[in-house]
This record gives sequence, structure tokens and C-alpha cells, in this order.
Amino acid sequence: MFHYFDNAATTQVRPEAAQAAVEAMTGEWGNPSSVYAFGSRAAGLVKGWRADVAGALGCLPEEVFFTSCGTESDNWAIRAAVELNRRKGKHIVTTAIEHAAVLESCKELERQGYEVTYLAPDHQGRISLQQLEEALRPDTVLVTMMLVNNELGTVLPVKEASRSIKRSGCPALLHCDAVQGFLKVPFTPKELGVDLLSISGHKIHAPKGIGALYIKKGLKVSPLIRGGGQESGLRSGTEATGQIAALAAAARLGKETMDADLAHMAALREETARRLTEQVPGLKILAPEGAPHILAVTMPGYKSEVVVRYLSDRGVYLSSGSACHKGKPSHVFAALKLPKPELDGALRISFSADTDGEDVDALVEALSQAQKELFTSLS
Ligand code: PLP
Repeated sequence: MFHYFDNAATTQVRPEAAQAAVEAMTGEWGNPSSVYAFGSRAAGLVKGWRADVAGALGCLPEEVFFTSCGTESDNWAIRAAVELNRRKGKHIVTTAIEHAAVLESCKELERQGYEVTYLAPDHQGRISLQQLEEALRPDTVLVTMMLVNNELGTVLPVKEASRSIKRSGCPALLHCDAVQGFLKVPFTPKELGVDLLSISGHKIHAPKGIGALYIKKGLKVSPLIRGGGQESGLRSGTEATGQIAALAAAARLGKETMDADLAHMAALREETARRLTEQVPGLKILAPEGAPHILAVTMPGYKSEVVVRYLSDRGVYLSSGSACHKGKPSHVFAALKLPKPELDGALRISFSADTDGEDVDALVEALSQAQKELFTSLS
């Protein structure tokens, strides 16, 4: 028995999603490219699953391209956008708090001669539109901005960015990493005004190893992987039917229960923030406003890794920042320019629809014990 507060790192696969994968792998396991009935039935299923994901996203099925993960979607989107605009300029705008999948793609483009402007957040992780407007230039070919930050939960002004790009008259395409935003804040790609948008299965109770890229209808992106012509010729490779089936099931069910799930998580986030502020002296909320599933806090004077290990020994799992950092200080918390004790003590608590009041009781109890015991052992 443990209490899981690391849903921004990964989520438990829903039984319905796992069941859909089992059926796709052991029942209708044909190759969707095969011409006989067993193959064409699998192709028909993939078509239906694509429509399910499109339905949850609020776009056309032909705008959904399956990938292996959010990282692949981000890499592909960024590469495709600069390739499409290669004659129009070499300037990119992004934010300093993007996921490594975006930042590393931008760094690679810098090595290839692109200039990248990194928009800095304020001390609560907010990105100002004014900064973006000042950064846009006639040669800006790509703006890549996440919808929800994975460590702070802050919601970035993607919709407003789209309007600013249009007003500025620059040729920039807009990519949005919506890996933490999908089914956590209401949106459709059209409402956001984006050209490309990434999602990932394992953040929405589907398995790891499946993601998707939304590509706006009419955008002529070049293939990521060449071969047998799957995914409309843009990402070849035999479809991962088990994972796709599971993603479709998780997306469909997640969309059905989204309003109730968001209300549940928002209430838990608020209760957790209130109780932690009251019962753990010194604890501070880092980003008070944001998506309902992420609450970033800090315990100044405590090392977050030590707190994470202390809690883990008591069956409470949370993270000291993005799981992708592997012990390196988080660039997101660093970008907030916090005083060092606040930076060192930063923790991420992340909820899902499955988190309940007992989990919150255990978290509050364990953090309040950590505050007392670790202080004693440090002093
Ligand atoms: N983008 C964001 C905002 C994320 O939080 C993550 C995962 O942590 C990714 C991209 C990468 O997604 P995946 O793990 O599916 O590659």
C-alpha cells in the first residue's frame, strides 16, 4: 500500500485501457496493412481508435498521427516546423521552462545556426505575453510553448500567443507541448490556434510508449520516418495496435469523466495546499494558480531529495522535480530565480482522479513529520 503523488511523472494504466490493449494484441492482432480480412479489420480498428483520440482532442481524425511518446511528438513537430519554414528565417521563440524534449530540440537547432529566444517566467512561473510580443521578429519561424508546465502546473498563454503571432505578421508556426495539458485543462487545437500539438499516453492512464502529434489539416510536413507509408506516409512503421487501442480507450474515458475528474483534482489540490500551509511550518506554495493536477511547494532549508526519500520510506511517493532530471537541479525551478534554500527544498505533488482524501491525510502527516524530524537531524 502506498500513496502516489507523482502523476505528472506517470499514471496508472486504467483497467479498460489495459483490456483494450490485450484484446488488440491477442484477438485482432493482424497487421493493418495486410489485404486479407484479418488485416483490414485491424486497419478498421486503427481508424476507429484514431477517431476516438481525435474526439477527445477535439480535432479531425486525419489530424492525429500516432508516435511512440510525447518526446517523439515534440522532436518531430519542431523539426517539421523549421523545415517547412526553412526559407523564411532562422529564429525560434520558446520558454525557459519547456520540457527537455523541446529544449534539447531547440539546442540542436542552435548548433545548426538557428537563434533561439527563451522567454523567462516570473517568480511564480508565469510567462508574459508582452515578452513574447517583443521577441517576435519577421524571421521568427517557430514559437513552441507548452500548455501546462510539468513541474509547476502553470498554464501558459498559448491561445494569446497564437493571436500575437498572427497580429505580428511573422511566418512563425505555433507548436504546443500539451503533454501535461491534455484532459487536465479544457482546450481544442483549433481554440488554441496551434499548428502542431503533442500529447502522450502515459500521462492520461494509457501505457508508456504511445503518443500522438496533432498536425493541422493542410500543413504539409515532411515524413519523420520513411518506410511502408503508415500514418499517411509521415511516420512509417507497423502500427503499435495494442498501445493505440489503449490510448484510444484512455482518451475516450478520460474525456467522458473529465469535468468530474478536474473538479475532484482541483478540490484535492486546494485542500492539500491549505492543510500543508497550516500544518507544515515554513512550507510555501510556489505557483498558487495552475492546472488542477500539479501543486509545487518548497520547504526552505530542507533538501528536497532527502524529503523525497524520507517520504518514500513511509510509502508516500512524490518528486523533487521532473523525473527526467535524474538528480540534476530542475531548470524550471531554477528559472524562477528563487533564493537557494527555496530552490533546494522544491517538491512537486501531482494528483490524478484516483487520488483520495486518505492519500492527502498520509501526505500531510508525512510532510509534517519530515519537517520536525529532518529539522532535528539536520540541526
Ligand atoms: N513534455 C512534457 C511537458 C512532459 O511532462 C513530458 C513527460 O514528462 C514529456 C513532454 C515527454 O513525454 P514522454 O514521456 O511520453 O516522452
